[in-house]
Amino acid sequence: MTTNNSNARQSTNIDPNVSINPVFVRPGEATEFDKFTLPKSPSLPSTAYQIVHDEAILDGNSRLNLATFVSTWMDDEAKKLYLEAADKNMIDKDEYPATAAIEDRCWRILADLWNVPDVSDTIGTSTIGSSEACMLGGLALKRLWQEKRRAEGKSTEKPNLIMSAAVQVVWEKFCNYWDIEARYVPVSPDHIILDGYNLEDYVDENTIGVVAILGQTFTGLYDDAVAISKKLDEIQEKTGLDVKIHIDGASGAMVAPFCQPDLVWDFQLDRVNSISTSGHKYGLVYPGVGWVVWRNTAVLPESMIFHVSYLGGDMPTLALNFSRPGAQVLLQYYQFLRLGFEGYREVQQNSIDVATYLSSEIAKIGPFELVSKGDTIPVFAWVLKDGYTQTWSLYDLADRLRMKGWLVPAYPMADDMSDVILQRIVVKVGLSRDLASALLSDIKGEVEYLNALTTPLPDVAHSHFHH
Ligand SMILES: *Cc1c(COP(=O)(O)O)cnc(C)c1O
Repeated sequence: MTTNNSNARQSTNIDPNVSINPVFVRPGEATEFDKFTLPKSPSLPSTAYQIVHDEAILDGNSRLNLATFVSTWMDDEAKKLYLEAADKNMIDKDEYPATAAIEDRCWRILADLWNVPDVSDTIGTSTIGSSEACMLGGLALKRLWQEKRRAEGKSTEKPNLIMSAAVQVVWEKFCNYWDIEARYVPVSPDHIILDGYNLEDYVDENTIGVVAILGQTFTGLYDDAVAISKKLDEIQEKTGLDVKIHIDGASGAMVAPFCQPDLVWDFQLDRVNSISTSGHKYGLVYPGVGWVVWRNTAVLPESMIFHVSYLGGDMPTLALNFSRPGAQVLLQYYQFLRLGFEGYREVQQNSIDVATYLSSEIAKIGPFELVSKGDTIPVFAWVLKDGYTQTWSLYDLADRLRMKGWLVPAYPMADDMSDVILQRIVVKVGLSRDLASALLSDIKGEVEYLNALTTPLPDVAHSHFHH
């Protein structure tokens, strides 16, 4: 050892290919890789690691990302499980029967949580996220409508789907990709959520369904599934049209069962055909996993199911993707076991408490008016009061907060109210009360800074240097 060390000290020519050399002076680290062509030759694994790692630090700290709904914190046991299971492909049900059995258990647990009428007659699946889950829920509605229309000898040319103008982009995609007319119900200050108002003007014989969102992306508010359902009952009485609902519970389906147990929104409503959620949002798993469950096997058209071999038997599958990670499904099950009903309730309620604390304090600062409080899902948004809109904007505040590391986006409200600019905070597990008060004092400080800026600057800029 001693000899080696003294040899190294004496050597004047460092061999650049030897991994003992200091990081950042080895080839690839002291120079730049071409960004758009495959390198000719291999690099040391530690070099490749360092380069990718260093570029990724420019993303900032995900824990301060209050824009995303997606989990940015899991505990150490979850991380350990994630590493152990990173190689599992969810579609290899025959090869990984245990993971397949756990997937099956997870959607059955959700079906039960969402009050399916008969747990022995339901069907569901994991997906890569809510987008895929929504697409599957929407496709089932389309197929059901087509089957009924064909049986009646009627045209299936012009399907339409009804939703709030404040839907998440996945529903625009769904309608675009599957040739369905999207019928948007406008948002207005009086009807900021979908609440059945004027629904009769949108429903016709070509309506495949209505989407109700539990936790609108813009504001966190819940569409009123009970009111929508009642209005559809009235419409059916008058017209005979029996229109079903898909609940897009990307966030809310993993919050409402725990924190708003008296709210009726799930399979307790007869018109609810299917429910989807993002396991990677308030399911508390890293991206990406989603879930979709149908009321019963009869409302999922057989034509959507494919059969794969599973333990020598037959396993029905329905999905847009073929291969996808199985690790997230195991992580979902880990969270179910780790937290249980009471644990989920405590975690989500704590996020709601942090959100309502933040929203009430933000309302007190002066320039802001709350659009929502964060008492549905822990997500809330605010606007600038009129007097302030001339001097600085919420985009300016977002920029200022970004300089401190916080990502608190500003964006226009949905169509028909797109002149209204909102700013939003998504509270998730990991935004502790302590971090929240640090955020609050940064917001207060930046508001003071922006207010002070409105004192006019002198017309002439003077140089500080004398030439
Ligand atoms: C996030 C979200 C989606 C899309 O979910 P992914 O899991 O990101 O694919 C759909 N609908 C709503 C209401 C959402 O909040």
